[in-house]
Amino acid sequence: MNIFTRPLRRYAAMSTPKVVQPKWNVPAPQAEKAVLKLYNSLTRTKVEFIPQSGNRGVTWYSCGPTVYDASHMGHARNYVSIDINRRIMQDYFGYNVQFVQNVTDIDDKIILRARQNYLFDNFVRDNDTKLNAEVVDKVKTALFLYINKNFTIEGGEIKTVEEFQMWLSKADAETLKLENPKFPMHVTAVQNAIETITKGDSMDPNLAFEKVKDVTVPLLDKELGSTLSDPEIFRQLPAYWEQKFNDDMLSLNVLPPTVTTRVSEYVPEIIEFVQKIIDNGYAYATSDGSVYFDTLKFDRSPNHDYAKCQPWNKGQLDLINDAEGSLSNFADNGKKSNNDFALWKASKAGEPEWESPWGKGRPGWHIECSVMASDILGPNIDIHSGGVDLAFPHHDNELAQSEACFDNKQWINYFLHTGHLHIEGQKMSKSLKNFITIQEALEKFSPRQLRLAFASVQWNNQLDFKESLINEVKSFENSMNNFFKTVRALRNDATSSGHIPKKFGSLEKELLADFTENESRVHLAFCDNLSTPVVLKTLSELVTKSNTYISTAGSALKIEPLIAICNYVTRILRIIGFPSRPDNLGWVAQSDSNEQLSGSLEDTVMPYVKCLSTFRDEVRSLAIKKAEPTEFLQLTDKIRNEDLLNLNIALDDRNGQSALIKFLTNDEKLEIVKLNEEKLANEQAKRQKKLEQQKLREQKENERMLKAQTKPQEMFKDVALYSTWDEQGLPTKDKDGNDVTKSMTKKLKKQWEQQKKLHEEYFGKAN
Ligand SMILES: [Zn+2]
Repeated sequence: MNIFTRPLRRYAAMSTPKVVQPKWNVPAPQAEKAVLKLYNSLTRTKVEFIPQSGNRGVTWYSCGPTVYDASHMGHARNYVSIDINRRIMQDYFGYNVQFVQNVTDIDDKIILRARQNYLFDNFVRDNDTKLNAEVVDKVKTALFLYINKNFTIEGGEIKTVEEFQMWLSKADAETLKLENPKFPMHVTAVQNAIETITKGDSMDPNLAFEKVKDVTVPLLDKELGSTLSDPEIFRQLPAYWEQKFNDDMLSLNVLPPTVTTRVSEYVPEIIEFVQKIIDNGYAYATSDGSVYFDTLKFDRSPNHDYAKCQPWNKGQLDLINDAEGSLSNFADNGKKSNNDFALWKASKAGEPEWESPWGKGRPGWHIECSVMASDILGPNIDIHSGGVDLAFPHHDNELAQSEACFDNKQWINYFLHTGHLHIEGQKMSKSLKNFITIQEALEKFSPRQLRLAFASVQWNNQLDFKESLINEVKSFENSMNNFFKTVRALRNDATSSGHIPKKFGSLEKELLADFTENESRVHLAFCDNLSTPVVLKTLSELVTKSNTYISTAGSALKIEPLIAICNYVTRILRIIGFPSRPDNLGWVAQSDSNEQLSGSLEDTVMPYVKCLSTFRDEVRSLAIKKAEPTEFLQLTDKIRNEDLLNLNIALDDRNGQSALIKFLTNDEKLEIVKLNEEKLANEQAKRQKKLEQQKLREQKENERMLKAQTKPQEMFKDVALYSTWDEQGLPTKDKDGNDVTKSMTKKLKKQWEQQKKLHEEYFGKAN
């Protein structure tokens, strides 16, 4: 048959050839598709996240720092938690986030602090840092003003130190502290000043001035504050603390914002925005040149609602006045309602000021965020975030201002509030002495430990920073470090082992199934309000399963699923903000990030080559002198326990397999050195004990031999006890000539037999 005719005949045999593809079936998913939900303060529930762009674009505004002092752990919790959320949205869910954050560099706290620092520095300089009579007088005046202003004292003013001490000794400190949390702080300030006035001469002058500062600055400010007009005074302090804040954020590996906005650079836009609110009928100017937001009118409007985040706080004067700032004049200034808040504040003498249609003044606190957020992100924004203590009135006022300006119903779609931070179950405060700045925290904990601590608690829940949390963090860190190190060592091992079997068995299939299941749980946790605590727990479980596989599989271990899992764990940790190694097999060691890996190949390799070369020399010299096998083994112990360990390398011996090579950090090396030393000390103690027992045995043996020298026939030949003996040397009469009793003879005979046996043992029967 011809090959060309055969296919033709086949064709011919077919009836109707198919010319269209068969029907394709749409796959049926095994579970419902998870959607990302966020806890929204505007609904107080988790709601599906729907970006306005309908696609990848997400706009996000976050309230930044008021820069007048060092940032503390509460700030760290807020900024790191928001950073984690932002990274997950960007790097896990793939959104293109435009993240805007402000710097509040115009604020009553800044004005006061800048003025007081400036005046106090002048005060110290004008007096040549000497505690002269004039200074002491001034401090005394300031002291009593401070006492009578900050303590409620029944029965008139305090005029002497003795009166104050008497009052304090009778005061109920616990109750006063409950009434005013700043009570202990005021007491400390007063006591410091009293101490300095009393023994000022013997104190270091710089310390003396430092100790009277708190009570003296209010008086200096009262007398001279209004004379200050140089804007530079109000620029330097916030510029300094803004830099410090940025340094802190860098240390904590917080991503910088896409756009940073400073209030001082936005005054014209703020004036324009305020004017628009006035034009829309929701704000009014007062006779002193301030502008207030008309909360009642806004709330009554059918299109608007006031206090969307926390409506139950409407009318809370302590919250409202606190937010208005300490330089505000709360007395009759034409404000229509106590709920109304300043959009624009008339500046008094000694306060920075800008020209405006209402007179010289400066922006109120809340308006800046509305203006700057909208300037960059427009009149409708996807996400706004900040600490929960900002929810009312700051964020509620921001919402009202913006919705009044744009006359829209919903300026922000998702309001995310990070939870409070407590320290060992208590609110953090300077008076409780549990106030920790970020810099202080970084002296005790690594940035990774702080981030892990924050990620271990749901971002919108209260976080208690306590010992047990830190212990959990450290144990998580250890288990991750061990896993990464083991996988890297196994990978190196597999690479150098040549052509090894790859076929999956049941153990590998089980591991792969566990991997898929954990991946899906991580995904569900991220979708469920970015739940990092559940994600970390799931990663931890995946690592435990992998470790079980490693120990069960032994020499039949397959490296591929382990590398896949290690890459995955590394990726998820990177998304939460822990930088990865270039090979994606673990996070960057904390010590590595500071160490510069530099130098030539020769410099890097030399210590290792030297170690190998020395080992070779020693093996050769042992072989030449035909040493015992134990000597070779001692040499292999030495290279493992000393030489390689000094180079930060650990060799883990394995049954029937070559040793596993692990690279160690310095801390891990020290840990092993310590363990080895303990082991050595234990062995030495055991040897010592053995030696002592040996000695004791020898001593007993000597005594026995000495005893054996006496022949049984001679052993009772003592005239002080006996007078006659039989032929075997057994006594028959005692020294007085009496017969030895039968029972005694029996006893002596027994001793005689024993001695005979002993003697014969050493000297034989012949003797
Ligand atoms: Zn804000």
